[in-house]
Amino acid sequence: MSSPSPITSVKARTIRIPLDAPTSFATREVHHRDYGIVRVRTEDGHEGIGFCYGGSDAGVLVSLAVRELLAPLLIGEDPTRVEGLWEKMYGTAILHGRAGAVMRALSILDIALWDRNARKADMPLHRFLGGYHSDSVPAYASGGYYLDGKTPEMLGEELASYVSMGFKAVKMKVGRLDPDSEEARIRAAREAIGPDVLLMLDANNAWHDLPTALRFMARYEPYDPYWIEEPFRVDDIDNHARLSARTRVPVATGEIETGRWRFKELLDKGGAIILQTDAAVCGGISEYRRIGATAASYGINLCPHWFHDLHVHLVGSAPNGQIVEFFPDDKVLNFRRILDRQLESRDGHLILPTEPGLGFNFDEAALDDYALDDWA
Ligand SMILES: [Mg+2]
Repeated sequence: MSSPSPITSVKARTIRIPLDAPTSFATREVHHRDYGIVRVRTEDGHEGIGFCYGGSDAGVLVSLAVRELLAPLLIGEDPTRVEGLWEKMYGTAILHGRAGAVMRALSILDIALWDRNARKADMPLHRFLGGYHSDSVPAYASGGYYLDGKTPEMLGEELASYVSMGFKAVKMKVGRLDPDSEEARIRAAREAIGPDVLLMLDANNAWHDLPTALRFMARYEPYDPYWIEEPFRVDDIDNHARLSARTRVPVATGEIETGRWRFKELLDKGGAIILQTDAAVCGGISEYRRIGATAASYGINLCPHWFHDLHVHLVGSAPNGQIVEFFPDDKVLNFRRILDRQLESRDGHLILPTEPGLGFNFDEAALDDYALDDWA
């Protein structure tokens, strides 16, 4: 074995990208998005990158956790000892945040280590992680947000446009309006996409009690939803389990959940039939794979949340990775504006990258346009 090349630099940056049109879902309105990004360099000149959503404000908390807490733990270390470095970071971070900004900081450093090691090995990340799919992975088009003045017909047209791009599954937001208005939206959506396209519903933590959730579900069920996503707040596992037992629509959740132990609790209690674990949230690629392995032994699939550029590799490398959430434009997920390459979609699938590591880099000029701070 060649001697390890130590980590010489760990830098973070905070990016803020305004949305062209403020958009909303059940529980929030979003005007701009903050992203925390990192770059890890080693003595041999190789580097890896990581990134996460830092919320619609205060994304600097992620960069701060990298700079103040975690970066000093990595300098001088062997980047191929990923599990060891995860434990070192987690052991330190446990006091400051086992969820939220600190865990996101840990997650993106772990992603950067995997990316760096795959680039060094000259392998695309999905292959470096073991490889499952050969050329492409299934994807669904995510959209259907609430916008001022957007009628049910306009929602239907939007979703039908994804179907005309080749997608066999589409997602829309639910849970913001009264039951009649909600039913008008889902009816228009189903009529526009036809009976055979899968229709996912995302409630973004809309409901606080089971009776309210059941009342809305009774309106949605006739339109054959494929899943109901995040019906309750993330900590309310019991209500997820109660709803799961009472509706024929599979319950999906997990996009802001962290750590293998909480996911096990969710599975043990029957709170989800589909996990939406996000590697940039839950503890990085390392923790995502542990959660994925546990889910596999429960017979449960992962349909990871958000960043398609990252999760194409994770769905691409696991038998129980089911489908990637894909954002066809930058109206919602505007992260694509700071990347130098975009994924290609074809016939409802995303083509697996063939370049080393994640398969893209940050566009430095775009970073300068949107950065709130400098690399530090
Ligand atoms: Mg969601």
